[in-house]
Amino acid sequence: MGKRKSKRKAPPKQKRVDTLSLVFSCPFCSHDRSCEVKIDRKASVGTIECRMCQEQYSTSVHYLSEPIDVYNSWIDACEEQNCE
Ligand SMILES: [Zn+2]
Repeated sequence: MGKRKSKRKAPPKQKRVDTLSLVFSCPFCSHDRSCEVKIDRKASVGTIECRMCQEQYSTSVHYLSEPIDVYNSWIDACEEQNCE
């Protein structure tokens, strides 16, 4: 599962946005819209943090990933931990 390096330029219709932010409700403290997602396109890392309970999670993202994808993988990770 190696990363392929590509020298292709990004498609022109892609917006020049390095960081996207969105807020979601927290699965830990159940606060509404307390979790903020930040996507670092350069580092290919998505981070979500709850400002109420300080719960934090980060995951690798690709160029098509949206904040909701980071949130969803956080939820998945939480459920996996609960199963242990
Ligand atoms: Zn929380």
